[in-house]
Amino acid sequence: MEYRLSCTKCGTSQKNQAAFRCSKCRAVLEAEYDYSTLKLERGFRGAGIRNSKYISFLPLDRLTCGLGEGGTQLMRSTISSFDDVNLLLKIETTNPTKTFKDRGSAVEITKAKELGFKDVCCASTGNMGLSVAHYARKAGINATIFISSNANAIKIKRIKNEGAKLAEIKGDFNKALNAAEAFAIKNNVFVCGDYHFRKEGQKTLVFEIIDQMRYSVPDVIFTPVGNATLLAAIHKGLREYKKAGLIKRMPRIAAVQSEKCDPLVRAFNNKKEIKYTRPETEADAIAVGYPTFGFEGIRALKETKGMAIAVSEQEIEDAVRFLERKRIYAELGGGTAFAGFIKTYYGNKHLVKGKKVVVIITGNNEGVFKEA
Ligand SMILES: [Zn+2]
Repeated sequence: MEYRLSCTKCGTSQKNQAAFRCSKCRAVLEAEYDYSTLKLERGFRGAGIRNSKYISFLPLDRLTCGLGEGGTQLMRSTISSFDDVNLLLKIETTNPTKTFKDRGSAVEITKAKELGFKDVCCASTGNMGLSVAHYARKAGINATIFISSNANAIKIKRIKNEGAKLAEIKGDFNKALNAAEAFAIKNNVFVCGDYHFRKEGQKTLVFEIIDQMRYSVPDVIFTPVGNATLLAAIHKGLREYKKAGLIKRMPRIAAVQSEKCDPLVRAFNNKKEIKYTRPETEADAIAVGYPTFGFEGIRALKETKGMAIAVSEQEIEDAVRFLERKRIYAELGGGTAFAGFIKTYYGNKHLVKGKKVVVIITGNNEGVFKEA
C-alpha cells in the first residue's frame, strides 16, 4: 500500500525511504497510509492467515523476501489451573527462526532489496540478529549484526552459522544500537531492527489473532516488552483493523517486563518519562534499558486502558517451566507475557476472570529448554 514516512514526535515528513530516524529530531518514524484508498480483496476475512495476506496493510506491493513466517497457532488453553479464563496462547515459536521477529525481518529485507541495498546491519541481543541474518542470507544480502555483551552465546553461534558478520560491542543493547546506526550512516547500509518497517511487519501478529478469533476482540492481550516495537505494532495493527471496519473496539493491552529491566512499566505506573534502566535480567530477548518505541508503547497502554506489569526473574522461570510441563516450549523472554498473566490471575483476578485473554509466547531460541 502507498505510504509516507513521518516523524512520530515532530511530524516532519521524510523523503529518504531508507531513513531510520527523523532528520530533524532523531525520533523514530512511522509509515502512514491513506485508509480511504484501502481495498481489501474479496474473501479477505475468510482467507487463510499468513504474512502475505496482510499486504494491503504493509508498505510494500509484494512481500518478495517472505519465508513462510506467520500463520502461527492460536492455541486454546486446556490448563485446568486457569479454567475460569477464556485463555488463548499465540505460539510464535514455529516461525522460521523460532520467534515473532521473522514477521518484521520479512518486511525489512524485502524493503532493503526493493531500495537496491546489498548490505544491511542490525543491533541485537540475539533473536533479531538471528532473524535478520537468516532472511538476509536467503535474499542474497550481506548482514552485519551488532551484538551486545549480554547476548546469548547460543544465539551468537547461530548468527555466525547464517554467515553474518558479527560486531561484538562492549556494553548493553543501547550501546550496540548506537554502533549499528553510526555504521549504517558511515557506510550507506540499510538499517534493520526496531524501526518503522519492522513494526509494520509485526502488526500481522495481531491481525492473525483477530482473524483466528473470527473478528471478535479479546478483552486483554498480554505481550512481553523489550524495545516495545511489538507493543507499538499491536496497537497500530488494532487501530488499522478498526479503521478498516474489521473490529469495533480495542482490547486492553498488558505489557510485561522483568523487574530487572522495567523502564516502561515504571514510567507507565508512575506517570513519568521513560528513564534508562541498566538491564540485569536473564531474559536476554527483552534486556533493553531504554526502549526505542517506549513513547509509542506508553501511548498504546494509555489508549487501550492497558496495564504494565513487572515480574520477578523467578516468576519468569516458573512460567516457562509451567508451560514446559504443558509441552509449550519458550525461552525466558518468550514466556514473560505468560508470567505477567499468572501474576494478574493470582493478584488481580477480576481483570482476567471470565474474559477472553490472549497471551503471546514470542520465542524459543535459548536452547536451554527442550525444543518444540
Ligand atoms: Zn522529528
